[in-house]
Amino acid sequence: MSLNNIRIVMINTSHPGNIGAAARVMKNMGLSRLYLVNPKQFPNYEATAMASGADDLLSQATVCSSFEEALQGCRLVLGTTARERKIQHEFIDARDAGVLSIAESQQHEVALVFGRERTGLTNDEIGLCHKLINIPTNPDYSSLNVASAVQIVTYEVMMSLRTFNQTDTSIEVNKSEQDIGGSEEYASSENMERYYQHLQQTLIDIDFLHLQQSPQLMPKLRHIYNRIRLKQEELNILRGILNKTQKLKL
Ligand code: SAH
Repeated sequence: MSLNNIRIVMINTSHPGNIGAAARVMKNMGLSRLYLVNPKQFPNYEATAMASGADDLLSQATVCSSFEEALQGCRLVLGTTARERKIQHEFIDARDAGVLSIAESQQHEVALVFGRERTGLTNDEIGLCHKLINIPTNPDYSSLNVASAVQIVTYEVMMSLRTFNQTDTSIEVNKSEQDIGGSEEYASSENMERYYQHLQQTLIDIDFLHLQQSPQLMPKLRHIYNRIRLKQEELNILRGILNKTQKLKL
């Protein structure tokens, strides 16, 4: 059992020291795949200093110019946020996130996403996450340093891996398959993005959507699909319906 299918994605990090500190805790917890979306300063000596002996993770880190690029190949995307109840989305705590990540990483790639130091994740970025992780904190002071948040979530991943390894693997694998609803693959992030583009274009074509008048429609639709989590087979059916609908219009 390995943690190779789990990646940590840090978005637009301002302080290079936080990237280094995150790399260090990742390596402590047995994770190695770090994705950096438009980091403000990277590579940087402060990142290297804070990484201590984990500078190998920094040199292997994948630097991306968009969040979508960092999610390529992922079929489960879990975002983290300190703002719990203000956002309408499914929330889980870090412990459940560890269990879910280990169960699903047996089948496919999983992304754990961390936001900007000051402003966290944007609504658009949250729209690309299937669920949000909130680390329970003092409600009057809930915002952790981003590397501390990486520490807590990756610790839970490590603890869940230990439990998984200690139990009968065959039973656990079956259980994880059941948890995610069978062995058929979930649609990948990039296929979902293609679907959303197709859906948006079709809704415009049939005169249902006027982007300027209803800017919230697509985010709301994304929210519905994230709640359901489509399998690839199901996505193919919906793409087929969109194709037919577009032809009817022409
Ligand atoms: N106001 C921002 C705070 C950003 S803190 C927000 O509401 O999210 C920087 C990052 O650390 C966050 O984007 C998130 O990835 C992580 N983080 C901080 N506190 C957290 C918490 N209590 N639960 C989950 N993630 C948290």
